[in-house]
Amino acid sequence: MPPDARLPRRNAAAIKAPRFPILPFDEWRISLARGSALSPGLLMPGESLVSILWKFACANALPGHALVDLISPEVHPHEGVAPVRDAVDLTRLSRVLRLPSNVVRASLPGAAPHDRYHEVFRYCRQCAAHGYHSVLFQREDENLCPAHQQSLQTRCPYCNGEIPYIINASVIGAPFRCGWCHSHYSYGRLSLLSTTAAMRRQDRIAISRRLRLRSSNEVEGVRPCADGNSRL
Ligand SMILES: [Zn+2]
Ligand SMILES: [Zn+2]
Repeated sequence: MPPDARLPRRNAAAIKAPRFPILPFDEWRISLARGSALSPGLLMPGESLVSILWKFACANALPGHALVDLISPEVHPHEGVAPVRDAVDLTRLSRVLRLPSNVVRASLPGAAPHDRYHEVFRYCRQCAAHGYHSVLFQREDENLCPAHQQSLQTRCPYCNGEIPYIINASVIGAPFRCGWCHSHYSYGRLSLLSTTAAMRRQDRIAISRRLRLRSSNEVEGVRPCADGNSRL
């Protein structure tokens, strides 16, 4: 028996090289003007805007402050903006990211009462290992990852710090990492992979099912009134 025959097989998907085209730092603005983008096919269902921006910044070698300036030029990049529909310009965001408006809209919690969200970043360690953060994880009424059934965490496993759920230069500059100590939120695996390849099919299905359940509950929660308007 060869010496390594008893070792567990490594997950080939987890060790693939990043698929994104990594561009030199000084070409980011030109390349964006030429149409460099992040394919919607590389995103998972329900991917949060923060997760999308991490991938977009890596794909285009964009520093955090430059990306914040592109999507919200009126705010200071180090102060940033809350990733909620009312706080960001969705049209501008779609144009910068070159993603369909429905994908961008779905990545953000709304302002309705049922859209209450945590103001600190919450994550599933296994999803973080696959480079995925869901808009579901920020909801106040979600406590488990639908794919891995793990409790959602807010604290860094290394320094115990929490980071605000916000888009600013330091958050964008630390993809899937703690903003305080820069340790990875997962178990040490590289996370800047195509999540489509790395997440198991049943995990994608579990997340999609949970998203559908949430959206159908919200539609049911909006009742038509006698005057033709809608009421929650
Ligand atoms: Zn998970
Ligand atoms: Zn930390």
